[in-house]
Amino acid sequence: MRLDSLSSTEFKRVMEGRPIVFLPIGGTEAHSSHLPLCTDSVQPEYVADTVAERLNGLVAPPLRYAFHSSTRNMPGTLTLGFETTIRVVYDILMSLISNGADKLVVISGHAGSSHMNALRQACVEVVEETGVRLMLLTDYDLVKRFPEDQRGDGHGGKMETARMMDIAPDLVRPQDKVGRYVSQGYMILSDPERSMPDGFVGDAPSATAELGRRLNSFIIDELTKEVRASFGVE
Ligand SMILES: [Zn+2]
Repeated sequence: MRLDSLSSTEFKRVMEGRPIVFLPIGGTEAHSSHLPLCTDSVQPEYVADTVAERLNGLVAPPLRYAFHSSTRNMPGTLTLGFETTIRVVYDILMSLISNGADKLVVISGHAGSSHMNALRQACVEVVEETGVRLMLLTDYDLVKRFPEDQRGDGHGGKMETARMMDIAPDLVRPQDKVGRYVSQGYMILSDPERSMPDGFVGDAPSATAELGRRLNSFIIDELTKEVRASFGVE
């Protein structure tokens, strides 16, 4: 259930049952010509909505902005600053906690390492200050467990395209080439998009909705298990 579909009175009553509260964090980011800018938002929102349904949890309004580094110069990528990302996520979590949330799951669809560092920093501050129980992960942490060879697959590649074909088929456009990754070694570049000349990495043309369906249900099952085990709920 989406938290903001409730009235204030209903919300107060639901929070008395101490539900698990999910905060999906997405982004607005270039994913080449075949995927929409909302790709990183649609995926964790779908996962959070489905897992929350199973566990009688609540889904807080998603954040559709993130900190982006490798795609920041590509058309359509809208990025928050690193510090802003920490502060906005900290504020949202603290506000949920002052409304009674004590079990939180932050799930990010954007998995960039700098972005995840910002989220981790916000979550650590929140846990240290309040003592709430809080999980932080990206749905791509769970994709890595999927039993299929994923070597050479990355941003906007086969896995991500397949997931989008399952969740939002109307938003997926055709793609006929395989996205290359060009290593830049350890260099810090002002044009990091050089490492992704096609705007994506992997064999997107071989993605299918059927693979996406299996992948999404795998992620949903894995997250349900993780949340049950971490919070000791049924
Ligand atoms: Zn993505």
